[in-house]
Amino acid sequence: MTLVDTPATTTGGPALTQERRLVTAIPGPRSQELMNRKAAAVAAGVGHTLPISVVAAGGGVVVDADGNSLIDLGSGIAVTGVGNSAPRVVEAVSAQLNAFTHTCFTVSPYEGYVAVAEKLNELTPGDHEKRSALFNSGAEAVENAIKIARHYTKKQAVVAFDHAYHGRTNLTMGLTAKNIPYKNGFGPFAPEVYRAPLSYPFRDGGLDGREAAARAITMIEKQIGAENLAAIIIEPIQGEGGFIVPAAGFLPALVEWAQANDVVFIADEVQTGFARTGAWFASEHEGIVPDVIVTAKGIAGGLPLSAVTGRAEIMDSAMAGGLGGTYAGSPIACAAALATIETYEQDGLVERAKEIGSVLIGRLNALRTADPRIGDVRGRGAMVAIELVDPATGAPDAALTNKVAKFAHEHGVILLTCGTYGNVIRFLPPLTISDELLVEGLGVIAEGLKQA
Ligand SMILES: *Cc1c(COP(=O)(O)O)cnc(C)c1O
Repeated sequence: MTLVDTPATTTGGPALTQERRLVTAIPGPRSQELMNRKAAAVAAGVGHTLPISVVAAGGGVVVDADGNSLIDLGSGIAVTGVGNSAPRVVEAVSAQLNAFTHTCFTVSPYEGYVAVAEKLNELTPGDHEKRSALFNSGAEAVENAIKIARHYTKKQAVVAFDHAYHGRTNLTMGLTAKNIPYKNGFGPFAPEVYRAPLSYPFRDGGLDGREAAARAITMIEKQIGAENLAAIIIEPIQGEGGFIVPAAGFLPALVEWAQANDVVFIADEVQTGFARTGAWFASEHEGIVPDVIVTAKGIAGGLPLSAVTGRAEIMDSAMAGGLGGTYAGSPIACAAALATIETYEQDGLVERAKEIGSVLIGRLNALRTADPRIGDVRGRGAMVAIELVDPATGAPDAALTNKVAKFAHEHGVILLTCGTYGNVIRFLPPLTISDELLVEGLGVIAEGLKQA
């Protein structure tokens, strides 16, 4: 076993050799040692996709304690769009650490928070007057978006969609569709949450976007009533639910209906936001302007931060003191967010996401032509997935999906699965990955499919 040196750069981030390198089996002995300690110390409910012991990460690789270097096709679930330990983020966070670490923004404020809010108001879709509020996690921001919508409309019901994922807190579990593992045994869930049918082109029997929206709206009108409905919340492209891109026209029809009925339209862009889909926000692909937009994952280069951004009249409805949190909008996370946003802008990462998308879609479509088990290739920018099926029946093939993911892990590729039926392989590489590594990673997956 050889451990390769990873010299630190002046900006702090490790200058890692951008290569897939296996020097032990995955997981190796040091990773296994950590997993043994973990099993005795950490709650079993906290699981792992790939049980390695990470010591460094950057560019397009993650390095473990055994000296293996893995190709990162997950970005810690769409978080490190700018890469791990991105130089500007390291610098900004270090400076903030040396200045002050915490005051609580609602006790004594600081500029970073305000600057992040200004940036969010500028970058999110729509040129109306906006306000933002910052939080720590995606789920916390979703909860606050619902709080705000209820306060503003003075109504209570909330509609989420089939296959939705909005988090793990009580309200967001209720909004999330999938039972195992997210909800099973964790109820009761919050009241006044309803579920509407989605547009899922691969499994919708040819419904177009407008027809799928009409189906959802009829259900909402008949079973809830617009006069009781505070908000519709939807991911413009569903994440955990299977990277489902709704048919064109679905989202605009929902937005139109919501606006005509005093219902707040909330776009959960926690996974799709910040350059990931080849636009700043996925709402842009459909030309929609959400009333409220929720962001998190890609916002701060790996530091915990989330945000709710929306129309000023909606966001300003809650009284002073009604929104906040001890750590919400931490100065360190805000410094990271400003440096992260600057990195997306300065390094052309929106464009880079599009290029990554062309490589992914091109190669995956080529694989699909030769392999009918790949039922669908879909996604936008650097958020792409394949849905694996039984070619004879179209039935979801979760077993095949797990085999391919296991093969990828054993061969040094961090690969995530998703989907209500567990049969979707998703690609979420950092936007700093090289084409060479990306193509090599795809080659491993192709080989995994062949051997499965
Ligand atoms: C990950 C995710 C969340 C929850 O974010 P956390 O930071 O894990 O609480 C909410 N919505 C979507 C669409 C997500 O992908």
